[in-house]
Amino acid sequence: MDAKQTFKIVAIDDNSLILTQLRLLLQHNFSVDFHGFTNGPEALDMIAKQHVDIIFLDLNMPQMDGIEVLRYLSDLNVKSAIVLLSGEDNTIIKMAKNLAQLRDLNVVTGIDKPITQIQIQHLMSSLFDNNKPSNVGLNTHTFDYDDVSLAVSNKQMCLYLQPKLSLPEENIVGGEFLVRWNHPEFGLLTPYYFINIIEESDLVHDFSIFVVDEAFAFIEKHFEKLKELTFNINLSVKNLEDIHLPERLADLASSYNVPPQMISFEVTESLLIENLAESLDVLLRLRLKGFSLSIDDFGTGYSSIKQLSQIPFCELKLDRCFIHGCALDKDKQAIIEATVALAHKLHLKIVAEGIENPNDLSFLNHYKIDYGQGYLFALPLKKVSFLKALEQQKPYSLRENYN
Ligand code: C2E
Ligand code: MG
Ligand code: MG
Repeated sequence: MDAKQTFKIVAIDDNSLILTQLRLLLQHNFSVDFHGFTNGPEALDMIAKQHVDIIFLDLNMPQMDGIEVLRYLSDLNVKSAIVLLSGEDNTIIKMAKNLAQLRDLNVVTGIDKPITQIQIQHLMSSLFDNNKPSNVGLNTHTFDYDDVSLAVSNKQMCLYLQPKLSLPEENIVGGEFLVRWNHPEFGLLTPYYFINIIEESDLVHDFSIFVVDEAFAFIEKHFEKLKELTFNINLSVKNLEDIHLPERLADLASSYNVPPQMISFEVTESLLIENLAESLDVLLRLRLKGFSLSIDDFGTGYSSIKQLSQIPFCELKLDRCFIHGCALDKDKQAIIEATVALAHKLHLKIVAEGIENPNDLSFLNHYKIDYGQGYLFALPLKKVSFLKALEQQKPYSLRENYN
């Protein structure tokens, strides 16, 4: 199968919210023709009539359960890749998988609910190994630890800044620092090509200190122009294993004369919830040092209100998979509405990520969304271009003028 094709997907789960979440997570990175069913018989009816690439199957359903559906799939001699979903513990998934293999079904994996973006990405790349976005002849090239390590020590990494705007006024109120690799052969590379290698290795500690150091140096250098703004810096969840991180960051801020109140550290929702206990100590102390905290890519994990309220977040960034196309999609609208209500209940500011078109923006402006980021306003910009954009406060023209 080729990753550029559209995958026909059938998902069977009695909970329609899970179907919506799965659809959005898949659509985020892949072209999919998605058919969700809340019961087995209707799904089987479709599967009997046409070829399906992947079947997501919940094991626990009230009428016909997943084990029964597997039996029928085997009768139909279905060859699609099957992914089992279960809220139960792993052993049920394992046993169902064994049973399905005995019936000659192609069960590729089991996923514990809640489903996360990371699980979907792992799943799709294990199924289709050539699903990278195209970039300057890079399709056949992958980087390894040594390449990335060398790039970090040779200072080939640099920071871009994406403006963050107040809504509905559309004034630039800050920016998010986003790393880029200035590769001598391939040009400017986005984190897609290297951030996993960094985040899964010991490189992550020095790398994040490098990012924070660069960011603080920029703020100090242009402090007079920037002092009214706030800046977001991404951290990896693995950084939170370093119990000295709050002190190191506070010391850095003070050596660059950057008030911690100007800085919000972002952590991705899905990874954070998996490591909550260990991370909480460091997160609380970052807050005590005066830094703000943002929960990034909200909606791609599955945090409960209880978990969210345990962490001293100040800001929630709603993932762009819910924003893109929201003007025309009732499911996305429901998720946005619920998230805004949740954020406000917890006294969090809310940022809409990835605003790309004016229709989505005018829908978002019906809600009390505090800030927006996205290509509609500006791509991630070189630091010097960010300064120019700030002088002019002309967000709509940024894309043409400054990148
Ligand atoms: P993120 O923190 O969620 O950053 C937002 C990403 O969305 C950026 O991708 C940005 O370029 C992209 N984006 C912004 N507006 C739009 C839009 O309108 N449409 C679309 N389709 N995309 C938009 P980027 O720069 O490729 O970064 C990807 C991820 O890499 C970031 O996601 C973040 O998780 C990670 N990352 C970036 N810089 C750093 C860093 O310094 N440290 C760490 N640990 N992670 C970083
Ligand atoms: Mg971010
Ligand atoms: Mg994000």
